[in-house]
Amino acid sequence: MLVKSERPAAAGAERMIETIKTDVLVIGAGPVGLFAVFELGLLDIKAHLVDILDKVGGQCAELYPEKPIYDIPGIPYITGHGLTDALMQQIKPFNPTFHLGEMVATLENIGDPLFRVTTDRDKVFETKAVVIAAGGGSFQPKRPPIQGIEPYEGKSVHYAVRKMEAFRDKRLLIVGGGDSALDWTLNLQPIAKRLTLVHRRDDFRGAPASVSKMRALVAASEMDLKIGQVASLEGGNGQLAAASIKGNDGALTRVEVDAMLPFFGLTMKLGPVADWGLSLQDELIPVSTATFETNIRGLFAIGDINTYPGKLKLILSGFHEAALMAQKAHHYVHPEKKLVFQYTTSSTSLQKKLGVK
Ligand SMILES: Cc1cc2nc3c(=O)[nH]c(=O)nc-3n(C[C@H](O)[C@H](O)[C@H](O)COP(=O)(O)OP(=O)(O)OC[C@H]3O[C@@H](n4cnc5c(N)ncnc54)[C@H](O)[C@@H]3O)c2cc1C
Repeated sequence: MLVKSERPAAAGAERMIETIKTDVLVIGAGPVGLFAVFELGLLDIKAHLVDILDKVGGQCAELYPEKPIYDIPGIPYITGHGLTDALMQQIKPFNPTFHLGEMVATLENIGDPLFRVTTDRDKVFETKAVVIAAGGGSFQPKRPPIQGIEPYEGKSVHYAVRKMEAFRDKRLLIVGGGDSALDWTLNLQPIAKRLTLVHRRDDFRGAPASVSKMRALVAASEMDLKIGQVASLEGGNGQLAAASIKGNDGALTRVEVDAMLPFFGLTMKLGPVADWGLSLQDELIPVSTATFETNIRGLFAIGDINTYPGKLKLILSGFHEAALMAQKAHHYVHPEKKLVFQYTTSSTSLQKKLGVK
């Protein structure tokens, strides 16, 4: 598989504008964009993928690489990182080309259907169909309202856990009351030197089972729970030394910490998708549930970025959407060919494509 992560041309150097012709361009290499390559590949459709991130896997790789996922059909347990690796393995026979560290900036409809797509790294694609698998767009964690937090960000204040080992034997302060705060509390408590969870009220939005497990750890003095808000931080050169927590009664408690992990949710920034002539609904792209095509012919939207009655933002929904999208994309990419529905278990032609025959 060709994975390109290119830097911009040096200042003053002549920029080469490259036009890449492809059957389909997939915007976003999250789990759904990756699986789209598989479904397209089975139908002899070649794909290029572009992603702003410097790695594949979308939210699974960026936000919860080591967290377990329990609801992928047929896989009782897999981490975000494991699922990304498995998808990369699955799409290997189709040899997609990745353009990582690049944002799709413009999308122009120049035929019926034919699209010209450009990236912020001056790459130009001409493609018969486009699959927007852009998730929530470019996602950014919400910053907690704590004065002077900026110098610690990325050093001892982290909005995502990339490597759990980085927190081994550390005094950790986790802030928040949702699933991310609770899940990371339960995952990091066994390896932390001491873990304190702070939430503004003694009522949690996270899964009840996680809340019960957390409360059991507090009752066993295995971790601390403080009800209140982080009022101020102490430290220097980006390294936290302590946090001051203001209880709901106004009393201040000083907690010595090595790292703080605030989980206040994500701000999804749709980014350039908003400028592509799509009729959006609450920053999501409405699609037909038969084809996952948008209001523009040949332009599809799958995964977290789309909306339709009953939509669930689950990976398995995106996988289903990718399969149906590919059927309609085939119509645009190979209009001369009749599409015959086949199973991978019994079709020798599909097995040849997968390299197993
Ligand atoms: C903490 C957490 C736990 C979760 N647990 C589960 C679970 O257990 N089970 C489950 O089914 N789901 C779970 N989810 C939800 C799941 O991760 C999402 O449904 C899934 O990631 C959606 O996949 P996607 O490919 O549509 O989008 P994403 O994973 O968001 O990927 C979209 C990609 O598009 C890229 N992109 C966006 N705009 C552009 C652009 N203009 N140009 C180039 N690239 C662009 C982004 O950088 C990103 O990499 C969880 C989510 C979180 C945050």
